[in-house]
Amino acid sequence: MSNPQELTQEALAAIARAQTEAEVAAIEVDYLRRKNGRLSSLLSEIGKLPPEERAALGQAANEAKRAIEAALAAKRQELEEARLADIAETEAIDITFPGPPLGRGHLHVLTQVQRQIETVLESMGYQVELGPEVETEWYNFEALNIPPGHPARENWDSFYFTPDLLLRAHTSPVQIRAMQRIKEPPIYIITPGRCYRRDAPEATRLPYFSQVEGLAVDKALTVGDMKGTLLYMIQSLYGEERKVRVRPSYFPFTEPSFEFDVTCGICAGAGCKSCRHKGWLEVGGCGMVHPQVLRNGGIDPTKWNGYAWGFGIERMAMLKHDVEDIRLFYESDLRFLEQF
Ligand SMILES: [Zn+2]
Repeated sequence: MSNPQELTQEALAAIARAQTEAEVAAIEVDYLRRKNGRLSSLLSEIGKLPPEERAALGQAANEAKRAIEAALAAKRQELEEARLADIAETEAIDITFPGPPLGRGHLHVLTQVQRQIETVLESMGYQVELGPEVETEWYNFEALNIPPGHPARENWDSFYFTPDLLLRAHTSPVQIRAMQRIKEPPIYIITPGRCYRRDAPEATRLPYFSQVEGLAVDKALTVGDMKGTLLYMIQSLYGEERKVRVRPSYFPFTEPSFEFDVTCGICAGAGCKSCRHKGWLEVGGCGMVHPQVLRNGGIDPTKWNGYAWGFGIERMAMLKHDVEDIRLFYESDLRFLEQF
């Protein structure tokens, strides 16, 4: 009968010779299996020993088990490392090589369109003016010739913090602020920015949106100057084949006032489903600045006059890219945004 020390030597030698995980597993079973494993067979003889030798054999058997288990674990790690080294050799994966680059984002389509508008107007000498989104009632309404109780207030109904403070319903207050700041014309500014109105979200409107307005104050400006400026802007953005027109309208802050239309990009003015067979698409409003608005901005209307226009940036982007639902711009769906 062999003793635990001899059994251990024998097992360690077998483990050292093993070349594969299957061989290691076979050795494990052979020596350590509970039933009929070599070590347990040896222990089954324990009853035949005199009582004073039994404890020593039990202890030696435990030591043998620990030594064999440790050798098996070390061998398995060695085989795994060799396997990985082999893969690195044969598949030539350079784990220090940089991975694929992370996808890079880009400007939101509304920012792109806003910047295009700014670039075109800046090339004509306009400057970008910004103003607060929280406005006083005076700047949002009264300075623009919309006194308390005026029915036109309903068109620009916004969200109030106090009876005198509200989220601006248009960027027109920036025109007043710019006139007050610059004081002496000529003034050529554009006022891009976020606006708010109490509208339920639907395909063509949202309670928050972006506007860009333009204001020119100079000597003897005409509707023709305004139309020419807007024609240049539209053709720069949408292509030289586009035509523009103005239609009489009413706004409290301009006189005369106009709706501003652009020919449909899909049918070129012939009429199609997209433009509801009109051939024209509404872009925004414009007109000659009302003398009272100039006065409210601190400008003498007997010396100066001006024109102003206001377009929705979402609307401009919808016309440029044939987007049919304004809500898509704000849903942050990358499948939509990555097209631009
Ligand atoms: Zn059309």
